[in-house]
Amino acid sequence: MFNALVMDKDEESGLATGSIKKLSVDDLPHGDVTVAVEYSTVNYKDGLCLSPKGGGLVRAYPHVPGIDYAGTVEASSDDRYKPGDKVVLTGWRVGEAHWGGYSQKANARADWLVPLPDGLTTRQAMAVGTAGFTAMLAVMALEDHGLTPDRGPVLVTGAAGGVGSVATAILGNLGYEVAAVTGRPETGDYLKSLGATTIVPRDDLNETTKRPLESETWAGCVDAVGGAMLARVLGQMKYGCSVAAVGLAGGAALPATVIPFLLRGVNLLGIDSVMQPYDNRVRAWKRIATDLPMDKLDAMVQPAGLSDLPQLGADILKGQVKGRVVVDVNA
Ligand code: NDP
Repeated sequence: MFNALVMDKDEESGLATGSIKKLSVDDLPHGDVTVAVEYSTVNYKDGLCLSPKGGGLVRAYPHVPGIDYAGTVEASSDDRYKPGDKVVLTGWRVGEAHWGGYSQKANARADWLVPLPDGLTTRQAMAVGTAGFTAMLAVMALEDHGLTPDRGPVLVTGAAGGVGSVATAILGNLGYEVAAVTGRPETGDYLKSLGATTIVPRDDLNETTKRPLESETWAGCVDAVGGAMLARVLGQMKYGCSVAAVGLAGGAALPATVIPFLLRGVNLLGIDSVMQPYDNRVRAWKRIATDLPMDKLDAMVQPAGLSDLPQLGADILKGQVKGRVVVDVNA
């Protein structure tokens, strides 16, 4: 028997709540690989899956959330994995449509897993988690579209959150000048310690402007916020430069014009971590192991256990989590 955080729906109210329950491997949905989970984490999507209505993401109850996890293979019917292998999982709607990582054991499809890269522990892999993995994908997409440190400053929005913190640390380590946008001025020292060179108050960018183009300021942008802020940033990009659109913490609507695309050749690059092809996943995890300084990653981590998850889920939806939460499922 092992512990898992299980969400059960009350049929009368239609609302779900989570509690720690004892499960057996027979309770788990079928998979090719059984993983002894060591660590999981809390992403924005986890906040939705932990909420009473499941954020529109959870298909059926009872449900075990946790959109990512890292651990050790315990049993495998697939040739690619054998007991003792260290693995990491992000995406594929695990923790939403499939049972996830808030459990001491999980069954996965072999196609969903990535071998843990050399140089990373399972704890570090979850300090990175889906948020950090996606930040790496965003930086890679910007580089693939010509971003280099000599082009100028790179903007990171939602900087004190998970995606933003990891993006700031990677970009800083690669020698970029990083302008970190935050609505929490008290995180300024933290962001500078990660590698930010300038702090931009959220209010400076949160208002729409009637001018479709402003001064050419940013050579790149990792955007975790979307909404009015993304629209504003598009008009501030340098000629031919790109924005990697990662998130919607500030809203899904995009009140923008096409003028930055037409007159400045600005690119808007969509970043999806969920269905990302295997080869690019492996490439991103290798880059994380080499380009993300582990001391900076440690500085982002807030440790937690399974029993902390309901509260942390509510906190992340309110934008109150700083950096990355690492959930030790065995604590
Ligand atoms: P976090 O909550 O950790 O970070 C989001 C940050 O955005 C907050 O910390 C805050 O930063 C800022 N923010 C919150 N609300 C607002 C607002 N109303 N206006 C402006 N800024 C705001 O979440 P994650 O980093 O885990 O995820 C960030 C976004 O990326 C989410 O929308 C998530 O769904 C998305 N995402 C997308 C993925 C993909 O595959 N495309 C994968 C992973 C995440 P601060 O306090 O510094 O201002």
